[in-house]
Amino acid sequence: MITRRNFLVRNSLLSAALAVPGVLMSFAKPEENADHTFDVIIVGGSYAGLAAAMALGRSLRKVLIIDSGLPCNRQTPHSHNFLTQDGVPPKEIAAKGREQVQHYDTVSFYESVAVQAKKKGEIFELTTQSGRVFSARKLLFATGLKDLMPPIPGFAECWGISILHCPYCHGYEVKGLATGIWANGDMAVHYAPLVANLTKQVFIFTDGAATFSEDQAQLIRKNNIHIVEQQVKALIHDNGQLSGIHLQDGAVYPIRALYARPAFEQHCKIPLEMGCALTEQGLLKLDNFQQTTIPGVYACGDNSAMRAVATAVATGTGAGAAINLALSTADFNLKK
Ligand SMILES: Cc1cc2nc3c(=O)[nH]c(=O)nc-3n(C[C@H](O)[C@H](O)[C@H](O)COP(=O)(O)OP(=O)(O)OC[C@H]3O[C@@H](n4cnc5c(N)ncnc54)[C@H](O)[C@@H]3O)c2cc1C
Repeated sequence: MITRRNFLVRNSLLSAALAVPGVLMSFAKPEENADHTFDVIIVGGSYAGLAAAMALGRSLRKVLIIDSGLPCNRQTPHSHNFLTQDGVPPKEIAAKGREQVQHYDTVSFYESVAVQAKKKGEIFELTTQSGRVFSARKLLFATGLKDLMPPIPGFAECWGISILHCPYCHGYEVKGLATGIWANGDMAVHYAPLVANLTKQVFIFTDGAATFSEDQAQLIRKNNIHIVEQQVKALIHDNGQLSGIHLQDGAVYPIRALYARPAFEQHCKIPLEMGCALTEQGLLKLDNFQQTTIPGVYACGDNSAMRAVATAVATGTGAGAAINLALSTADFNLKK
């Protein structure tokens, strides 16, 4: 039952977290002279890392979450398509997650950047930018991806506001508007039917010569989609709200929303430095138990799965359960 006092305490904590960008809610902090060996260190304390921490905390696991406070969706005003949290600001969803995870007193939180990890015997040792060294039996990377902004003036400012990566996350909000797809070849062909389902005014900006096959180009045109091959010079916007696309030849298209999938890299390089393999798409390669190609090193969320809050939470929960199973089984079998 939620008492009035509980309600007030919870909500004041939540508001405090929301009012101070980048400052995380206070979990138990690892003491300077405490034992720094954990069952699991989770690098990344956003949706995937918090979901894993909840599964592990509920399994009485001693967990440390290390987070640098830079989730990929931080510029987006509202997050959509995650059941019970549709339209809620991303920071608010994470703050609520942290609030719930901090109820499990075996979970600690440390705000810093993890910079290095090494295996020493059966134990992993992880170093932070602040110079702290922590040890754990298992490592979980919930570190997400870093989107690389193309050097087009206005692109970075509009990212997540009117430049969108996903029609499921933000398409409904821009339905019916003059909409661009900033892509070429198969990627543009992938987006085209999804965007055409949401608006009748669709323009594909190939930003140079189009690379469509004859069949693809014909199909696009039959769906009344315009292909624009001129290079994009700049995006015209007001505080991230797009009002036009300015081309090199001086033409301006009055586009209000633009779908784009910029290049990305792993936000955290440690798994690569440890030798974890990547898929062709640049994601961490995992087995069915969320384990990377290095035994004892796990991953969840965007760094290894489809990009959506629901998927980050689902894979985080799965990773937490898989790690607890591995630890519990190892301890149980010691009695053999
Ligand atoms: C612009 C944009 C808008 C989006 N909108 C939606 C939406 O409306 N609905 C939806 O379902 N999905 C949306 N997504 C996708 C969704 O945001 C991601 O799927 C989700 O954030 C992934 O969660 P994650 O925990 O894996 O990674 P992230 O949320 O990116 O978090 C990774 C965390 O790891 C930390 N970290 C990384 N490296 C280190 C390190 N070395 N040391 C310590 N900490 C580290 C980061 O600081 C960060 O806090 C959007 C994505 C983008 C880019």
